[in-house]
Amino acid sequence: MHTNTNTMNSEELFQRALKVAPGGVHSPVRSFKGLDRAPVFFKEAHGAFLTSVENKKYIDFCQSFGPLILGHRDPEVAEEVHRMVDTAWTFGATEIYSLELAEWITSTLPFMEKLRFVSSGTEAVMSALRVARAATGRHKILKFEGCYHGHVDSLLVKAGSGLAGTSASSSAGISAEVAALTLVTPLNDEEKLAEVFHNHGHEIAAVIIEPLPANYGLLVQRPEFLQKVAAICKANNSLLIFDEVISGFRVGLGGMVEKTGIQPDLVTYGKIIGGGFPVGCYGGKAELMNLVAPSGDVYQAGTLSANPIGMRAGLTTLKKMQRLDGWNVLEQRTSKFVKALRDGFAKKDLPIQIDHSASLFWIHGHSAEVIRTIEQIPQNQAATFKGLFLRSLDKGVYLAPNAYEVGFVSMAHTDELLQQAAQIIIESAV
Ligand SMILES: *Cc1c(COP(=O)(O)O)cnc(C)c1O
Repeated sequence: MHTNTNTMNSEELFQRALKVAPGGVHSPVRSFKGLDRAPVFFKEAHGAFLTSVENKKYIDFCQSFGPLILGHRDPEVAEEVHRMVDTAWTFGATEIYSLELAEWITSTLPFMEKLRFVSSGTEAVMSALRVARAATGRHKILKFEGCYHGHVDSLLVKAGSGLAGTSASSSAGISAEVAALTLVTPLNDEEKLAEVFHNHGHEIAAVIIEPLPANYGLLVQRPEFLQKVAAICKANNSLLIFDEVISGFRVGLGGMVEKTGIQPDLVTYGKIIGGGFPVGCYGGKAELMNLVAPSGDVYQAGTLSANPIGMRAGLTTLKKMQRLDGWNVLEQRTSKFVKALRDGFAKKDLPIQIDHSASLFWIHGHSAEVIRTIEQIPQNQAATFKGLFLRSLDKGVYLAPNAYEVGFVSMAHTDELLQQAAQIIIESAV
């Protein structure tokens, strides 16, 4: 039995982890795959910082891949969590905590007429698709190349070469029959979108899109493209699902729904909604959500759904963000941070750029055009990122360990800290 993890370094711990978990991890990106070193093992987190088992402190821009918009262990959230731990952990029965969060969300976001809490973004997406199929009596789903919607079988699918509906899965273990129900089309391409609808419109139950695609680089879409997606759904009686698991409560209180003014039929949330605990949510039009059991025939359940600790952490996080005008604060801080990096890269005459949207940022290789599709991502992206990531890590900045993941600025990242981090990243860029 290994009980003493205190005296081992990250490399030794990773060797142990490799024996007990596939790739040594419980979610793939954590493994530092392709980065030629063992992942850092952490033991503590606070505010903008992570502490490794080697007692090294890092400024953290991964922030658990997005949930921690207030930073690690925000004191107000921590107090609520402690209170909840001393009150109840889970009921498996009706309780007051999910009611409060549900009422807060539905009264704050008018497009969320009714909702259901689940325990992850994946579950939210999976359930929303089920509702869409039930509501329309159709089977196919249209998604966009480069958009990630969790590890749902039917959405782990990338485009085949054509638009004939013969999609190929991007994971082993997914049956061709399931993959074939998912159509894929490129982002930023109205013509191809129209073509898919021309061929398959009557079969498409729903179009699912990350309105701010941020899981394969940051692929900001033109508002006209998103409008076109909404319009074509409407014209074909297909539902529109906004997957706001990453953008929801991140780009603003009302997420991309508010920013674009587009009203989707269903919206999925995760990450920030649980304030650092496992919570997901899907919701939207009441007539659609009424299809969900027990009011309707679409079965969906969860033993730990609407877990009180996540409910309290989520509500406290959202209310604090609202009270502090947090989204504006983050926009300003991130703009300054990104400007410092841009200036720094330019000064060194490096072919490296940085884009941001609200408090999400993405460092990428030089591109003459705005990157809106995965094809536009520079070929040398992985190589460019690797050196920058490893040198930044050495100097105490932890970026998400993958060239195609975005960075997150939290309320715990002060202007001073961001300038310090910017210097380190600029020094690390060659
Ligand atoms: C993270 C993410 C998911 C999956 O959420 P999990 O909680 O990891 O299951 C789905 N969609 C988007 C847009 C995401 O960013």
